[in-house]
Amino acid sequence: MPDAPLPPLQLTDVQRSVAEELDRIAPVIDELGRRFADAGHELSLVGGPVRDAMLGRHHNDLDLTTSARPEQTERLLKGWADAIWDMGRAFGTIGCRRGDWQVEITTYRSESYDPSSRKPDVDFGDSLDGDLGRRDFTVNAMAVRLPGRQVEDPYGGVVDLAHRVLRTPGRPEDSFSDDPLRMMRAARFAAQLGFTVDDGVREAMTAMAERISIISAERVRDELVKLVCAPYPRLGLTLLVETGLAALVLPELPALQLERDEHHRHKDVYEHTLTVLEQAIDLEHRLGGEPDFVSRFAALMHDVGKPRTRRFVADGTVTFHHHDVVGAKITRKRMQALRFSNDEIDAVGKLVELHLRFHGYGSGEWTDSAVRRYVRDAGDQLERLHILTRADCTTRNQRKAARLARTYDELEERIARLSEQEELASIRPDLDGNQIMELLGIGPGREIGQAYQHLLELRMDHGPLGEERAREELLAWWAAR
Ligand code: ATP
Ligand code: MG
Repeated sequence: MPDAPLPPLQLTDVQRSVAEELDRIAPVIDELGRRFADAGHELSLVGGPVRDAMLGRHHNDLDLTTSARPEQTERLLKGWADAIWDMGRAFGTIGCRRGDWQVEITTYRSESYDPSSRKPDVDFGDSLDGDLGRRDFTVNAMAVRLPGRQVEDPYGGVVDLAHRVLRTPGRPEDSFSDDPLRMMRAARFAAQLGFTVDDGVREAMTAMAERISIISAERVRDELVKLVCAPYPRLGLTLLVETGLAALVLPELPALQLERDEHHRHKDVYEHTLTVLEQAIDLEHRLGGEPDFVSRFAALMHDVGKPRTRRFVADGTVTFHHHDVVGAKITRKRMQALRFSNDEIDAVGKLVELHLRFHGYGSGEWTDSAVRRYVRDAGDQLERLHILTRADCTTRNQRKAARLARTYDELEERIARLSEQEELASIRPDLDGNQIMELLGIGPGREIGQAYQHLLELRMDHGPLGEERAREELLAWWAAR
């Protein structure tokens, strides 16, 4: 994760990346471009795929924009696409799939936004330039006309892309007034692309932050999830906090900037949290390597109970008793307000609640039953709890960090050993004592114990035998005695 800004891109590299990507997606864009042109319509690749092509990133989801109206688009796709669906006709978007390609085609827009309503009011537009001018950032306001592959960049997006900066095509105040969600999108793209925002964008975000309140919780949540799952979440989160947006959409985060006491006796919890998040990301390979929202969000929220539980003790120290339990409650409430699913809320809430449990482990004096309880309470979040607990160590004291890591290694080894033993302990022979007594026609005694032991050995050696085979084996053993 870079602390320093990424170096500028070379325009020659950008051009080469685009040419390569256009060749790769040629099977889709050449055919579709022809089809639309033959019918007298304009069609262009636009937004994300153009931007990402310039950055050398490939994907099979292609966004296109057209002069054709949705019904016309639908007709032109029939016979070409394997499947066609309506993404919301009112918004002018038709989706389709052909082979591995996912394509979304949107009719040119000239969108106007009623600031008091939550839904964009869509008017279809007539020109590509007009459509591009309504887009959020210049790097998203570039297009490639099809089938000729002529690049359209009326707002200087390619220069901004080279400098890795987010700028709005028009005045940022007008853009954010049209659609306040774009302020969240600025933070999301900063986190996804590793870009900074232009000074004007930052100022407008700061001045207009409270306008975000007209946007539905679901749309805010979706941007937040994308931000948190991005490669550089620190960049996006810092921007949200510094502009005051976080105070509105995730107030628990800026609240972690506890006033430092003059002796710096307790760490800056906010800075600690961002580091824990990055350390949790570094451990995601344990979950398969994909960005994991639950794990990341738990890292972000794990200490949100601290501001409310902070107590200054007479000896000059600070305590945060029960900040795990209080934090879990606060986390659940926030996630409910953001309309997360119950499964996500339960998972993150549980992790926040359990993130301190390991600290009672000391140097390994938990009983087996305490280890079992840890595993049982974590349930299907155990792997994520391992990640969170390990990530939650940001001490600069290397010896202390190494000791904690080693102690946690031991705990994980104990969990592994215990569960292996208990699986072994739960293995039973294929017949129980009553069945053995019945089959051999004798009562309880030493011989039944021996028969049971014999069947258990067979079970250990060969795995489950099934009742039929177990009966035969038992009778053969009995006869051979
Ligand atoms: P990804 O699909 O990876 O999230 P993207 O850039 O394709 O990234 P989308 O949210 O899919 O982003 O939007 C597609 C394009 O539509 C954007 O690139 C942008 O040009 C435009 N766009 C989307 N939402 C807005 C908005 N709220 N205001 C203005 N333009 C927008
Ligand atoms: Mg997209």
